Amino acid sequence: MERIWAPWRQSYVSNARPDKSCIFCQDHAGKGDRERLILARSDYSLMMLNRYPYTGGHLMVAPLRHTAELDDLSDAELLDLMHQLCRGQALLKRVASPDGFNVGLNLGRAAGAGVEEHLHIHVVPRWNGDSNFMTVVGDVRVIPDGLAEAYDRLKSALADGDAA
Ligand SMILES: [Zn+2]
Repeated sequence: MERIWAPWRQSYVSNARPDKSCIFCQDHAGKGDRERLILARSDYSLMMLNRYPYTGGHLMVAPLRHTAELDDLSDAELLDLMHQLCRGQALLKRVASPDGFNVGLNLGRAAGAGVEEHLHIHVVPRWNGDSNFMTVVGDVRVIPDGLAEAYDRLKSALADGDAA
């Protein structure tokens, strides 16, 4: 997999977010799921592509409810979130055949959360020979094709998987 440099991510990390609305909650008038990069929804959670990916196919799953605390989630919400996580991982396995995954939560600004007020789980596909997850924060490789193309490919694979 080819990778390109993503200089915009550094400014994203170091600058205050200009828009305080929550990317997991906001319902932009006239903007659909494709524009928001949302791939799937369930009763209590959603799956979306990360607009500032660490690697191609970097997904996030989040509860629909706006909360920063894991222990604020009900059993049903927690279970649904885990199912969404499994679904995202299965999707990436099918589409991108990664050699491994980094799956995790950054809780709180000090821990590196980009959106600290709404918890979300990162699902980052990894390939043998790519660089270490923790060292790519400053200069990040992203997918060679655009986000829209990646979204369409994953969305289509998701539909195929659901139909199977
Ligand atoms: Zn939110």
